Amino acid sequence: SGDTSPSRHVAPAASSDAFALDKIRLESELRAALDRGELEMRLQPIEEIAGGRVAGYEALVRWRHLQRGDVAPAEFIRLAEETSLIVPIGDYVLERVCEMLAELRRRGREPLPFIALNLSSRQLEDPLLVDRILARLRAHELPPDRLKLEITESLVLDHVRIAALLARCHEEGMHVALDDFGTGYSNLGALLTLNFDQIKLDGSFVRALDTSRGVALVGVVVATARALNCDLVAEGVETRAQREVLQRLGCGYAQGWLVGKPLALAEVLNGN
Ligand code: C2E
Ligand code: CA
Ligand code: CA
Ligand code: CA
Repeated sequence: SGDTSPSRHVAPAASSDAFALDKIRLESELRAALDRGELEMRLQPIEEIAGGRVAGYEALVRWRHLQRGDVAPAEFIRLAEETSLIVPIGDYVLERVCEMLAELRRRGREPLPFIALNLSSRQLEDPLLVDRILARLRAHELPPDRLKLEITESLVLDHVRIAALLARCHEEGMHVALDDFGTGYSNLGALLTLNFDQIKLDGSFVRALDTSRGVALVGVVVATARALNCDLVAEGVETRAQREVLQRLGCGYAQGWLVGKPLALAEVLNGN
């Protein structure tokens, strides 16, 4: 069936044939969508809380499916990773990001905002990843520090590989963020050895800011980020109350519906 409920991802043995078929169909549909340009990039603003200005954006991919409607990344990123389609999708997002930065610069946007893009495990396995990114930046004559790479905590298990990636990025002036901080089980371990430029606090902690436990924990993360000289971005900020507590605690940046939903490129170019 064309069912896209989460249960599809945990295929019970009895329906594994149907699961495999659905996966194969989705895979060919995704491949075709990429060729036909049905994948789109949105940019969600990230606000510097104290100054109230947009410091940058996170690139989030969308699949405008003709029959299914918009398919959320959660529905297809995993499939894309399993089938390696994530590599051309990642290239597509990177190229759009570079074009967008170049266009913002052409229009005189000052200071030029940064754009962050999400990396998947497959992309991280590519030993030439950083070189390929730098080549695209150079092709558009962009300063490397306007691009941020986001790596989720679950991908950080291979500390040696990530340490090498971080060193290389820093050599070239690129910034790297630790995404979804707080959702995994080795967050502090990752921070112990890895030198991230930014920490992105998962939205589950922001939602807990109406409890004293939540406030206490976010306070600890703010202090940790400050001690490590990392920027801290709170994700999933939906209410003024949450932003006020974040500001009081000293969190530098906010991202979420309160600041802005993921925007089409035209909306960003027209001054959002
Ligand atoms: P993420 O990197 O943690 O991205 C943030 C997610 O939170 C986005 O979901 C965003 O739309 C959502 N969000 C933003 N503000 C709010 C808010 O105030 N409240 C709530 N409840 N949610 C908010 P989205 O766009 O569905 O993306 C889901 C995940 O898919 C991303 O999580 C990221 O891990 C992955 N993803 C998205 N685009 C790409 C991509 O180009 N490449 C790769 N490898 N992964 C991507
Ligand atoms: Ca992210
Ligand atoms: Ca995140
Ligand atoms: Ca995520």
